Amino acid sequence: MNLRMVDLKGQYEKIKEEVDKSIQETLDNTAFINGPKVKAFAENLSKYVGSGHVIPCANGTDALQIAMMALNLKPGDEVIVPAFTYVATAEVIALLKLSPVMVDVDYDSFNTCKKHIEPFITHKTKAIVPVHLYGQTSPMQAIMELAEKYNLFVIEDAAQSIGSDYHFKDGRIKKSGTIGHIGCTSFFPSKNLGCYGDGGALFTEDEALAQKISRIANHGQSKRYYHDSIGVNSRLDAIQAGILDIKLKHLDEYGHARQKAADHYDESFAKNPQLITPQRVDYSSHVFHQYTLKVQNGTRNELSEFLNNENIPHNIYYPLPLYAQKAFADFPQAYIPLENTEKLCKEVISLPMHTELTGEMIEYIADKVNNFFGV
Ligand SMILES: *Cc1c(COP(=O)(O)O)cnc(C)c1O
Repeated sequence: MNLRMVDLKGQYEKIKEEVDKSIQETLDNTAFINGPKVKAFAENLSKYVGSGHVIPCANGTDALQIAMMALNLKPGDEVIVPAFTYVATAEVIALLKLSPVMVDVDYDSFNTCKKHIEPFITHKTKAIVPVHLYGQTSPMQAIMELAEKYNLFVIEDAAQSIGSDYHFKDGRIKKSGTIGHIGCTSFFPSKNLGCYGDGGALFTEDEALAQKISRIANHGQSKRYYHDSIGVNSRLDAIQAGILDIKLKHLDEYGHARQKAADHYDESFAKNPQLITPQRVDYSSHVFHQYTLKVQNGTRNELSEFLNNENIPHNIYYPLPLYAQKAFADFPQAYIPLENTEKLCKEVISLPMHTELTGEMIEYIADKVNNFFGV
């Protein structure tokens, strides 16, 4: 069986005609950078997520960096991030000489929350970066209330959660990434809305902030060859924008395919007492960037080895807490073990999750996993 962690080829085959045509148009009109395709995609994405402003950029890591640069933070200012996340979230903080403060996450949802954040807020804290891990939005209402109480910025890392709906207690619904002061996302090929190269975007409701972000992403330039601040060169190219615009129309359908696959996995693992299947919280929909199990009997690494031998793709996101990474060894906050983060790094394992998974594939994968546990 042809199993993959992500099947971009199968997905492409279904939209090939449209995608090929769009790429050819860009080759013909040579508007490779900016131009109509980038503008059209930014507008359509803005409509989709319901954000006033969408500023495309070169990748998700740049989006996070540009967000930090736009908020006038000073060296030494503290920025709170979950310790259980991809490195990019904290890397850009360190790069700007800000101080990443790593906090624990909730064991069930994998996301950080008020309970873990509040004890780490000091007079130096300036911002919180909730990461919506694996495709489910963090408990944003409480995080925004906390931010208001302590006068902090909130930058959402929505690289894994585009399309996820957050439900406020009063019934309002907002898309993941549009709740904080700035939202950041990535269009890396394997992300839920992925292009065929690198790409990213920032979301904000604030007009002045949007202008500043656009300026920073373009060498701090206010008009051509007039530079108001130090910026970066971070652009989405037109070929990627054209591809993304086509895939955006399918994003909800892709999300449903992932949810269906996740439900199917869940059913197959219901009889396995050694596995905890992903929690669905009531305040957010889940777009299943990853389908991540928690192995309860301490055999996660053995399971991984077994799956390697059986040619079943899988991955461990993430094997090491951020504070245990060598790169952060010199930061003041280095190595204070956090209970849930420690546990999750030892227990998590992610199975193939993409839009082209068939029921047959899921059953084959789940049977192998269950066999390992003698179930
Ligand atoms: C992928 C990812 C990023 C970085 O996005 P790139 O486009 O690869 O730079 C940042 N944060 C999280 C949580 C991610 O999964």
